[in-house]
Amino acid sequence: MRKYDLIIKRGTVVTASDAFKSDVAVKDGIIVALGQDITGDGANIIDAEGKYVFPGGIDVHTHLEMPFGGTVSSDDFETGTIAAACGGTTTIVDFAIQAKGQSLQQAAETWHKKADGKAVIDYGFHIAITDMNEDILNEMPRAIKNGYSSFKLFMTYDGLKVNDDVLLKALIMAKENGGLICVHAENYYIIDYLIKKFYKEGKIEPKYHAMSRPTVAEAEAVSRAIKIASFANAPLYIVHLSCKESLIELARAREQRLPVMAETCPQYLLLSEEKYEEPNFMGAKYVMSPPLRPKENLNSLWDGLAKGEIQAVSTDHCPFFLKGQKDLGLEFFGKIPNGAPGIETRMALMYSYGADMGKLSLQRFVEVTATNPAKIFGLYPSKGTIAVGSDADIVIFDPNVKKVITKSKLHENVDYTPYEGFEVTGYPVITILRGNIIVENGNFIGRKGFGKFLKRQAPILV
Ligand SMILES: [Zn+2]
Repeated sequence: MRKYDLIIKRGTVVTASDAFKSDVAVKDGIIVALGQDITGDGANIIDAEGKYVFPGGIDVHTHLEMPFGGTVSSDDFETGTIAAACGGTTTIVDFAIQAKGQSLQQAAETWHKKADGKAVIDYGFHIAITDMNEDILNEMPRAIKNGYSSFKLFMTYDGLKVNDDVLLKALIMAKENGGLICVHAENYYIIDYLIKKFYKEGKIEPKYHAMSRPTVAEAEAVSRAIKIASFANAPLYIVHLSCKESLIELARAREQRLPVMAETCPQYLLLSEEKYEEPNFMGAKYVMSPPLRPKENLNSLWDGLAKGEIQAVSTDHCPFFLKGQKDLGLEFFGKIPNGAPGIETRMALMYSYGADMGKLSLQRFVEVTATNPAKIFGLYPSKGTIAVGSDADIVIFDPNVKKVITKSKLHENVDYTPYEGFEVTGYPVITILRGNIIVENGNFIGRKGFGKFLKRQAPILV
């Protein structure tokens, strides 16, 4: 009899292309067999009858322990990855942000110090380039070789923003060396004009944050980034695409077979701008960029996701406490730290409101939460699927559990969730990382520092 460490029995295995009843056998952290009635001496057995066996979630947009606007996002690599694990996510790709004057290597090292020895799930880093010059440009090939195969450029935000010449050069350099450029696409000048105008007019409440960042500002930058990428003949990934106007630009580019890809986030699929009207400064909970949009955008985004125009769902998890952090902006929305939590709720929300409600097939749910993120960011096929030879990163998911999302039950280190009161059908019950059970029935039983840094390869275009 073969020796296995773990056998998951009788579950329904779901991949991006398939759903089938199968046992899954694991040895030394790797999936080594799929099939019926697998038996093995001394193996730990999980009975997954009536449950789904999904690839572990991959969240390629998180900000743990990130400095922003005079404060720091409140989940570190320990608390944030525990929350991720409890929500069925086994890999994140966070952003190492280059400080002015830093090399890319120094930026990466700064983030390694935050994560190494602390993360409980596997992780990689994109490098956000904020201070480009000839040396930095020439450093990109080495960064790619060292496993930081994607870079983010901000088209907006004072202190982070880069101009179009930087975007163009970075696109060409990334393309020639097997890297990928990601953009935060918003038009700086429209937003800067509106923020200053509202401030002068005494319009200081959280809702003016949203009004200062209209959809046209995003769509303009999306369109411009696509055109510059098409000139460079380089692949492009648009982070947190939030509205129909941008989706139209994306869909048109993809119709022309341009290698443009995009993610959206649960907040843009499930929440809309009315949230900013919550009294007593509670609108600050939703101050993020891009902001929540008018309701009519939500269905367009679901459609785009189902049809394959949008390739991935990440969270942009960037939590700040209402008390002591968000309230820095009590007197002016421009001082509210931008960001909201979501690392723990993504899988349950996307399953419940996507797959369970029939907006996404089961396979598509897996594709946008795990398989495509793994492909686009150079982790496939060791991550993002259930197949012989892949890492045994697995979520046992009970489609019949009903829960109401509430802050007190979540592990995110922050004092609210934007999804308070959301009912979900289906929830992860066991999370497995490289063959080790790290979460069981909502309890984290893994180990601090068990997460491994992932050197990532060139993107696979999807
Ligand atoms: Zn972000």
